Amino acid sequence: MKKLQGQLVKNNFVCLLFLLLLTIIFASNTFAHDDDHERQHNSIELDDIKAKAKTPIQLYVFNCGTIVANELSLFNPALEVGMQKTLSNTCYLIKHPKGTLMWDAGLPDSLATIPGGTTVFDGAFTISVEKTLKSQLEEIGIDPLEIDFVALSHLHFDHIGNANYFTNSTWLIQQSEYAVAFGEAAVQAGFDSTAYNELADNPTITLNGHYDVFGDKSVVVISAPGHTVGHQMLYLDLPQTGPVVLSGDLYHFMENRLNYGVPVFNSSIRESIHSFVLIDNFLDQSKAQFWIQHDKPTFDSLSLSPAFYQ
Ligand SMILES: [Zn+2]
Repeated sequence: MKKLQGQLVKNNFVCLLFLLLLTIIFASNTFAHDDDHERQHNSIELDDIKAKAKTPIQLYVFNCGTIVANELSLFNPALEVGMQKTLSNTCYLIKHPKGTLMWDAGLPDSLATIPGGTTVFDGAFTISVEKTLKSQLEEIGIDPLEIDFVALSHLHFDHIGNANYFTNSTWLIQQSEYAVAFGEAAVQAGFDSTAYNELADNPTITLNGHYDVFGDKSVVVISAPGHTVGHQMLYLDLPQTGPVVLSGDLYHFMENRLNYGVPVFNSSIRESIHSFVLIDNFLDQSKAQFWIQHDKPTFDSLSLSPAFYQ
């Protein structure tokens, strides 16, 4: 009897040990793959997006500077040399019942102290900021440190200028862009990582495709590589305005959309064309408005913050 009891105690102890081990393995796995889980759970196909106009989201449009393109043929080699064009530079805030998302971070606010702006990239662009992003966020009572998510369409200088404001946000970036975001790879890609290096310690979800930010298909990051390796756009299902796609830099102005112009500084012509087709099909399917972020006539037609779209 004593022997049997001893055996039972021993068996129970082994069982307990086994359970403990399983718990530890499960817990460490859960932590290790938390991001993976969230990424897989929220990844989505474009065919699955249907506008429902159900979620009360709001979209604020900010003036994040002006760019004069002094040599327009850089944006499309088929254009005549010597043409100039003024481009808008736009950032956006999305308020969703489950949180806030900053889309793009504009030209740096520090440019606001230089009247008329400055000319960069061997004279290619004259860049200026009339009103700081910080003051525009303040105007609507938003503290950058309280924004839940930050997503940059890509890491070129005119989209990252104020990225270091958002050090508490979860960073949504394509894995391919993240892989070249820092160090020598960033220099090779033409990215100035000092403008966003304070995001390096942010909670970060690296994406491998389209991503449903809040899990209800109302705010979706769309992967559209070609301008840069991890270029992305944003789909919004606004309850009153209807579906809208924010272009990132898929195109910089309307004429390039009509002619499928590919800028000379794009990372891949092939991927650019693939993304053009993907988005054309998606716009046909979704009936979404397409807002070209740098297109000044589009920008001039929009109501800026503190007004908002819903
Ligand atoms: Zn741009």
